[in-house]
Amino acid sequence: MKALTFDGVGKIKLVDKEKPKIEQPNQAIIKLVRTTICGSDLHILKGDVPTVEQGRTLGHEGIGVVEEVGAEVKNYQKGDRVLIACITSCATCRWCKESLFDACKSGGWQLGHLLDGTQAEYLRIPFADSCLYPIPPGADERSLLVYSDILPTGLEVAVLRGMVKPGCTVAIVGAGPVGLASAICAQLYSPKAIVCFDRDQFRLDKAREVGATECYKVNSAAEAREVSKGWFGDKDGFDVVVEAVGIPETFDMCQELVGVGGNIANVGVHGTSVNLKIDKLWSRSTSMRPVSGDTKAPLTQSVAISMALVSSHTIPLLLELMSAGKLDTSALITHDFKFSEIEKAYDIFGRAAETKALKVNIE
Ligand code: NAD
Ligand code: ZN
Repeated sequence: MKALTFDGVGKIKLVDKEKPKIEQPNQAIIKLVRTTICGSDLHILKGDVPTVEQGRTLGHEGIGVVEEVGAEVKNYQKGDRVLIACITSCATCRWCKESLFDACKSGGWQLGHLLDGTQAEYLRIPFADSCLYPIPPGADERSLLVYSDILPTGLEVAVLRGMVKPGCTVAIVGAGPVGLASAICAQLYSPKAIVCFDRDQFRLDKAREVGATECYKVNSAAEAREVSKGWFGDKDGFDVVVEAVGIPETFDMCQELVGVGGNIANVGVHGTSVNLKIDKLWSRSTSMRPVSGDTKAPLTQSVAISMALVSSHTIPLLLELMSAGKLDTSALITHDFKFSEIEKAYDIFGRAAETKALKVNIE
């Protein structure tokens, strides 16, 4: 079978691999129907994730058909169409029982990282009963590609950990696929305003298209501060600020934008440290409490800087909302490729500012 592999920093390679076999009774073999590329795959290519071995099949998002299941798999059988969650979770360890699936003792973010991923013709899924979801009948599967990772990320990390509430003000820094997914999910909670910040006009136009109420083209924390002043004056800011880029400059923007008692929800994967403006956070009579995935944490009167990976437990809820016509993610898929063109898909996705790519559909 064909598989797209990590071939060392900056390099990918389409290779022939042996088709995976069931090795444990909780596993399933999936024949991939479609997959996509994530900003996190580009982090691997850049060398930000040194735990990925050369030869690893990349990808952690996709839709497929069950080809074979192990003896312990109860929920799926050959022929079922399934959505693959980006996080592999055993559902039985201490962290899974506390809904911290990304910290699962035998799972976490493994597909396309520590295990062969979804950018292949076939894939072996561990803990199949808790890592696959049935595709609702009649669903537009192309739009569903974002339900493996970026949409549950938007809901869990940006909106729930950011504590978006009815009537609040939300700032989203970064209008890439993840920021746009966060904007779509924030609307489920009826905030008063969803304000997007980016330096790329095409992406800001997309943010408007998916429901952002205001958009600002900014290049620096100083420019973001001016926008915040225009909205709230000198002494306040947004109730919820979502960092959806993953670089120190945009983390700085978030610290300029957050208001009294507000929350910074950090979604971006940072390859380096950020500069914490503790004086600024202090002057807003706020305290800071790092949160990693505990959606039950008491956040009142505090700045919560949540540094969390998606845990995917909201996928069934999101699928129900989609079936009820309350979620439309079709605007996030901009390009289509055949699986044999996956290297070209990486090139187009990797040059998004020029090519205007958001998520790509590869089938
Ligand atoms: P992306 O690169 O497509 O989007 C980032 C956006 O930020 C772009 O639109 C870009 O124009 C904008 N930007 C960059 N620098 C800027 C600056 N200095 N000022 C203003 N705007 C700027 O990335 P994405 O695919 O949307 O992913 C965003 C981040 O989320 C990545 O770090 C990715 O790895 C991470 N991610 C996290 C999770 C999670 O579970 N926490 C899941 C998926 C992705
Ligand atoms: Zn677990």
